[in-house]
Amino acid sequence: MATSADVPTIESEVATRAQKPQKSMATEPPKDAAPPPDGLVAVLDHVRVHGESSRARLVEATGLGRSVVTQRVDALLDYGLLTEDGLGPSTGGRAPRLLRFRADAGYLLVADLGATSMDVALADLSGEVLIHRAERSDIAAGPDAVLARVEELFDECVAEAGTLPGSLWGIGIGVPGPVEFESALPISPPIMPGWDGYDVRARFAGRGVPVWLDNDVNMMALGELTAGSGRGVKNFVFVKIGTGIGAGIVVDGRIHRGAQGSAGDVGHIYVPAGDREVICRCGMSGCLEAFAGGAALARDGEAAARAGRSPILLAILDEKGFIGAADVALASKHGDQVSVELITEAGRLIGQMLTGVVNFFNPSLLVIGGGVSGAGDLLLATIRQTIYRRSLPLATRDLIVRRSDLDGHAGVIGAATMVANEIFAREYLPRWLGARTPAGAA
Ligand SMILES: [Zn+2]
Repeated sequence: MATSADVPTIESEVATRAQKPQKSMATEPPKDAAPPPDGLVAVLDHVRVHGESSRARLVEATGLGRSVVTQRVDALLDYGLLTEDGLGPSTGGRAPRLLRFRADAGYLLVADLGATSMDVALADLSGEVLIHRAERSDIAAGPDAVLARVEELFDECVAEAGTLPGSLWGIGIGVPGPVEFESALPISPPIMPGWDGYDVRARFAGRGVPVWLDNDVNMMALGELTAGSGRGVKNFVFVKIGTGIGAGIVVDGRIHRGAQGSAGDVGHIYVPAGDREVICRCGMSGCLEAFAGGAALARDGEAAARAGRSPILLAILDEKGFIGAADVALASKHGDQVSVELITEAGRLIGQMLTGVVNFFNPSLLVIGGGVSGAGDLLLATIRQTIYRRSLPLATRDLIVRRSDLDGHAGVIGAATMVANEIFAREYLPRWLGARTPAGAA
């Protein structure tokens, strides 16, 4: 039974309230928000990463005191970022109540822009994609046209989602070129006329949420790390074989962007390819992707068709008016000799480049993705064979080379993960919280 000393008197309660700073009712994020209270991000991160937790487990995992954990949990429950339900397994005493991250407290809009394709998605705060739209698109049409279509698809996704419990929290865009991550500006992208220095953040400012921009291959690597073959793998390389060729590098569980953000630009590595002189779209000659990328396969396949060296490709050309990389892959599956040779040579050149990557970086996994990678087993088999034949035995002893199984979703999954990670980062979270009222008061 409580003694009279434990019961707060009206006077003492008023005095305590008067000393407490009043909660800010600001609707805009303060410019210089105070850092979050100690352990707030740690508590939220633990529940976010593990899906659920209990106060006892949080004390163990974060090293914070029991009362601090209780206060941080209460704050996060107030903000609607955590919810409490069900009972966890008892370890002898009273069964603990389970805390869960509320992934539906808000939603994210993301777009993965390739050279010739566009994937747009609506995801929850855990980065899970709820609605996905994909269509053909031409990045060379310029930012105004391309992003206008992205906005339309954003609106369609929101309309399709119907009643969402939360509001929009952030936007993530991936582009097929180098990006300065901090400023979210594309920097001299070779295949994106009109995009150099384009202010993507300003473009989406009307939506009133933070916007992040990254290179599409980095986002795909993050998607693999989160939900694909790269789950739980500390050191791996994701290779995108699409119109061009690029790589996303994961070092110690994090995306490695390099000093200027152009790490993994392997499509423009010089490869010895006999006496063929081919100028790459970057302006140099002898680049890997000028021989082995999807655009190169399409170009060489069409030339073979016109020269009468492949009846299958000629038939496709007559019907469609052009040859794509997928057509060359399809013809190779039907035994077309020219197509088999083109794919084998592309696989050999890509494998040769990756041999250098394997010897240099010693990843435990190479994930091959992108539109062209899904075209058949011959390309992957040749890549694998070349790497194993040419790499140092120690580097390939436990190396796994496999195709992405995310079915083209790696980019949007990675974009949603990137936005969620940034929003819930130590630097950003207090600004966000400053702009919100607790869920119960909304
Ligand atoms: Zn090049």
